[in-house]
Amino acid sequence: MSERNRSLVVAIDGPAGAGKTTLARGLAAALGMPYLNTGAMYRSLAAEALRRGGDPDDGPALAGLARSMRFSMEGDPASLRVEGKPPSDDLATAEVEAVVSTVAGHPEVRAVLRAEQRRLGVGGAVVEGRDIGTVVFPDADLKIFLEADPEERAARRQAERRQGDPALAEALERRDARDARTNPLVPAVDARVVDSTGRDAEDVMAEVLNLVPWREA
Ligand code: C5P
Repeated sequence: MSERNRSLVVAIDGPAGAGKTTLARGLAAALGMPYLNTGAMYRSLAAEALRRGGDPDDGPALAGLARSMRFSMEGDPASLRVEGKPPSDDLATAEVEAVVSTVAGHPEVRAVLRAEQRRLGVGGAVVEGRDIGTVVFPDADLKIFLEADPEERAARRQAERRQGDPALAEALERRDARDARTNPLVPAVDARVVDSTGRDAEDVMAEVLNLVPWREA
């Protein structure tokens, strides 16, 4: 990370299908900052619980499991490691999609992962999630709330469905409904709202780069 970007936090929040991951990863690369994907932390916990035959409704047990997991930031540029390894591909399976929002809905689970997220992001990072600008880093230096028309997000889902996994698209819809109960998708008062409807990733990225006040010219 360049000296200038040390300790700065950029929060990227918004609903599924708005393009958060592409934006957050690209922004981190462009700014030379670490990238923290908090959704991957909730997914890793859900996947580990599934592997162990754990109960997605047992908040205290899941919080204990979360405490036993080792999250770190490694690499150059730094990004999330779980037990020393990059988050694995099996975090996007229908099984994980089906339980992750239930796992993430327990207040005791959120307390454990929120503390971890603050520890991992404290030196500065682009942090992607749903409650980053509102709860995890309310003092973030820049808050972006990325949204897109429901029709477009649904169309992206439909494209996923055509790729041949109907269970995945249906699980995504159920996940959205549960997520909205845990974190109402409302931008932080000081968030800049960016709409990705009908735009490609480069275009969205250019708009967001222009919102970065400390960006080197
Ligand atoms: O961002 P992603 O879709 O990978 O997140 C997976 C799930 O993790 C979300 O559906 C939500 O249940 C949970 N999550 C959360 N808070 C965050 C990030 C993700 O509750 N900050």
